[in-house]
Amino acid sequence: MIRLVILGAPGSGKGTHTYKIAKKYNLKHVVVGDVVKQEIRNKTALGKIMYDYTSVGKFVPSNIVVDVLKAQVKDLKGFDGFIIDTAPINMEQKEAMSDFIIDGVIWLKVENFNLLRERILNRLICPNCRRVTTKSKYPNKVCPCCGSTLEERYDDNIETFNKRIAQFEEKTMPVIRDYQKQGKVIEIDAEMAKQDVYSQICDKLDNFIKVNSLK
Ligand SMILES: [Zn+2]
Repeated sequence: MIRLVILGAPGSGKGTHTYKIAKKYNLKHVVVGDVVKQEIRNKTALGKIMYDYTSVGKFVPSNIVVDVLKAQVKDLKGFDGFIIDTAPINMEQKEAMSDFIIDGVIWLKVENFNLLRERILNRLICPNCRRVTTKSKYPNKVCPCCGSTLEERYDDNIETFNKRIAQFEEKTMPVIRDYQKQGKVIEIDAEMAKQDVYSQICDKLDNFIKVNSLK
C-alpha cells in the first residue's frame, strides 16, 4: 500500500504531476479542490459554507475537508494506494487527519513566485479527465485527451493567488517541516521543465518505495 500526499504552492504543478503519478503507480487520485468545487456547484449545504471561504481565497474548515477525504479513501479496491492533492494544508488539518496513515509527502518546491504567477494565470483544467494544460497551448479550450471543454479553476485570479501564496507560506510550510522531521518528505525541485520535474518525482518515489518497503 502506498499512501501519499502531494503539497506545493499554487501553480507548482500538483495537478499535472499527480494525474501522471496516480496512473503510473495505480493510486486513487483524490483532488480536494475538485470535491470542494463539486459541492459548491451543486449548491449543497456544505458547498454553500465552503463557497464563503474559497471565494475569498480562504481555506475550508478542517473537519469538513477531513470528512470529504475519509469518504474518498474508504474504498481502495483495485488500487495500490492513494495520492491526495492537496491536504493537509495546515497544522489543524494535519491533526484532524491523525487517523490517516501517510507514508510519504511529495513536496513540489518552487521559490520563484513570479514563475508560479505566470503558470497559474495561464492554466486550464479538464473537468472530465483531469488533464491540466494552458490557454496558450489550447486557446479553443478543447481537451486534447477527451474533447471536453477545458475550464479555468474557480480560484485562478491574481488576487486570490496572492492570498493563497501567503497562506501557503504561513500555514502549509509548517506542515511540510513537520513531515520532514518524520523523514517523510520527498523534496522535488519543481522549477525545472515539466518533463524533468516528472522524471525527478518518479526516480525519487521509486527509491522511497524501495527504502520504505511500500507495496
Ligand atoms: Zn479531458
